[in-house]
Amino acid sequence: MSRADLARMIADARRCVVFTGAGISTESGIPDFRSPGGVWSKMKPIYFQEFVADPAKRREAWERVFTGRAGWTGRQPNSGHFAVARLVQQGKVAAVITQNVDNLHQDSGVPDDRIIELHGNASYAKCLECGERHELEELKDSFLKAGEIPYCRRCGGLVKTATISFGQAMPEEPMARAEQETLSCDLFIVLGSSLVVFPAAGFPLMAKRNGAALAIVNREPTEMDPYADLVLHDEIGPALSAVVPAN
Ligand code: ZN
Repeated sequence: MSRADLARMIADARRCVVFTGAGISTESGIPDFRSPGGVWSKMKPIYFQEFVADPAKRREAWERVFTGRAGWTGRQPNSGHFAVARLVQQGKVAAVITQNVDNLHQDSGVPDDRIIELHGNASYAKCLECGERHELEELKDSFLKAGEIPYCRRCGGLVKTATISFGQAMPEEPMARAEQETLSCDLFIVLGSSLVVFPAAGFPLMAKRNGAALAIVNREPTEMDPYADLVLHDEIGPALSAVVPAN
């Protein structure tokens, strides 16, 4: 199977959904969390319950954010993200479901309302009590200069990056939207996910069982390859640039 086969599948599809994982963003220099040598092999995740209960853990979490140790954000979208943005713009892709927290789909020009973030977003913070959004830039100075752990400007509650941490439930609204989009597409395209983490990994099979075609583009084989109609073991950026050329 080739890039041309993927181009043909997309041309024939009425409504596509794109599902992205770490593999699309490693090409932008964002580390993979779970792979050997990835973020979680170098530092222990801070569980949600630890963050809430322990000021020292909160301090450590914010240190990771503001010193860039986690490396979750601060990179530029690559040709893979831009190819996805073109498919959205052309009306081919109705939704981009992502496991990534790096904001690179937004940065590549995909409208907010087309992006479904299963694990939240690390490029801003939210109050755990009232949901008020806080920009990291606003919190950075007082943390780095005065050592102040951020609290909500509106209600005084705890503020945390808008990611879904270990120990935190999957967000209901994005999960419901992702399911709805998965069941409404006739082509489900996986880009750069090893498809091992459930429940997210359930979406490709859900699409398949519902009658959609399944295409997987990933450097390594995935557990879902046997169920796919098309599998490309390829770099995302170069492959997608060839499939969806820029005008
Ligand atoms: Zn608040």
